[in-house]
Amino acid sequence: MHNLKGGCHCGNISVDYSTSIAPEDSAPRACQCSFCRKHQSRAVSDPTGSLKFTIHKQSEVNRYTFGIGSCQFLVCCRCGVYVGAFMPDPDDTTGYATLMANALDAQGRYPQATPTVYDGEDGVGKKDRRRRVWTPAVLETIN
Ligand SMILES: [Zn+2]
Repeated sequence: MHNLKGGCHCGNISVDYSTSIAPEDSAPRACQCSFCRKHQSRAVSDPTGSLKFTIHKQSEVNRYTFGIGSCQFLVCCRCGVYVGAFMPDPDDTTGYATLMANALDAQGRYPQATPTVYDGEDGVGKKDRRRRVWTPAVLETIN
């Protein structure tokens, strides 16, 4: 297991990612949706791994949503870093997530991202894919 750490720039959002996939062996995805293109998204996940987001101060995190609103794009209001996307399922603190490789301390070990388009999916299709492909995740809020 690789236990990887990271987070936003100021430390308000921290990330603990356990995965059996070494950074060098992962295949980051550059989602081509209008939000991810603006962030040059380089997303990684591992359905057999686990991910924990720790939010130190909730009022300084933007859980941005758009489209069908089924997932939250976690952006730190203090430093502006987009850390990852979280789909609450079944509840507000437990779900699935995809992580920005750039937010990890090991970011330099990850390969270039491959452009990935999900245009053909409806809402149900998106949720099904995330449950299959994203990392089981918990979101903990300290304050
Ligand atoms: Zn921050």
